[in-house]
Amino acid sequence: MTPMTAESESPDGPVSAGTGRPVRLSLTRRAARPARHLADLSRDERRQVAVSLGQPAFRADQVSRHYFARLVDADETDAMTDLPEDARGPLLEALLPRLLVPARTLSCDDGLTRKTAWRTADGALLESVIMRYPDRATVCVSSQAGCGMGCPFCATGQGGLTRNLSTAEIVEQVVHAARVLRRRELAGGEGRLSNVVFMGMGEPLANYTAVTAALRRLIAPPPEGLGLSARGLTVSTVGLVPAMRRLAGEGLPVTLAVSLHAPDDELRDELVPINTRWPVAEVLAAAWEYAEVTGRRVSIEYALIDGVNDDVARADALATLLSGRLAHVNLIPLNPTEGSSWQASAPAGQRAFVRRLRERGIATTVRDTRGREIAAACGQLAAEPAGRARRLEAAKPVEAAKPVEAAKPVESAKPVEAAGAASGSSAHGSRVLR
Ligand code: SAH
Ligand code: SF4
Repeated sequence: MTPMTAESESPDGPVSAGTGRPVRLSLTRRAARPARHLADLSRDERRQVAVSLGQPAFRADQVSRHYFARLVDADETDAMTDLPEDARGPLLEALLPRLLVPARTLSCDDGLTRKTAWRTADGALLESVIMRYPDRATVCVSSQAGCGMGCPFCATGQGGLTRNLSTAEIVEQVVHAARVLRRRELAGGEGRLSNVVFMGMGEPLANYTAVTAALRRLIAPPPEGLGLSARGLTVSTVGLVPAMRRLAGEGLPVTLAVSLHAPDDELRDELVPINTRWPVAEVLAAAWEYAEVTGRRVSIEYALIDGVNDDVARADALATLLSGRLAHVNLIPLNPTEGSSWQASAPAGQRAFVRRLRERGIATTVRDTRGREIAAACGQLAAEPAGRARRLEAAKPVEAAKPVEAAKPVESAKPVEAAGAASGSSAHGSRVLR
């Protein structure tokens, strides 16, 4: 799939092509706008939609409760018996369109981890991963289809950006996970979704408006939203400093994870190209500001890459940067991708790195490798050659009780990325925040 940008202009205004006439560069076609869904709207806006259809406003609340409290799927219209039959069709069409269709589902870890690759109405691909633990259940969601940040070790970064996801496309991944858990479609019996980590595809803070609206929707109690605790939500960023500052002022007490991966600008410029715009010192200053304003410990994400950033001198430099701060380090053994020859650190190197950080008094965890078998760590599902992915699928059929509507099989080799987590185990290979 070709990376798609809506339009491109020079920062100084329209580009001149030499004729003196300003031209607007349309590099690729404009991304389709996803259908409006109740999760894109405030409660009042939904009520206005109901009224515009000639229905009483409370019908919007009824539909919202079906979605957020009863976790009814868009096509389970028969379950919505409190809606008059003649109003049901128009109301559901206006408020509950199907936004995401599963393109492929894989499970592993004895059925406790499940990854779904989704296709949007305009054909974009994204993924989400549900991980069940004894004491919690986490979903790792995508905020964009693809990502434009270009981190060379990341499968998503290697594929470029397709488009931002809408608020409802983000929320829908979470509601789906809550439904799967409630309906016992994952091993381990009925479960309740407790954590959401924005560690799937995309840079959440590059899609700021939709992501913050999604966070509000996830926190608000039904019928406005899903009613999750803000403490269970984690937003991971590559370090978009102005957006980090803005997030601190939103009054959303979510956990911030910062993907650092190197303590020095020279190496971070290479691993995380946006570092050339906002270097380590600025990113960390914004992180400490976030911790101060919200009172929440920041998670510093660090993918350990063999012979690249895993030397003890860098552990020391990292410890110096973090000493005395409200932060902990989450080390992620690299999930190797096809687009790069980098490998995960050897176990001895990893242990030495952890030991040095701990000796220096830095709280440090290492992500588990949950989901690696199905590339639920770094979202390589769609990045894999289709043949390999299909073999995997055959080997690990989803035991789901609910039939997964078959969309067209994913034909493209588009990278979908992984998740990671801040403090539990997650998609990006492992741990996910509690
Ligand atoms: N764009 C955001 C959130 C999505 S990536 C960010 O970069 O923070 C979620 C986490 O997975 C990030 O910490 C990212 O650095 C990490 N990650 C990406 N590719 C990885 C890989 N191949 N192995 C291990 N971690 C990876
Ligand atoms: Fe984008 Fe995060 Fe991957 Fe970097 S690591 S390319 S920011 S998804």
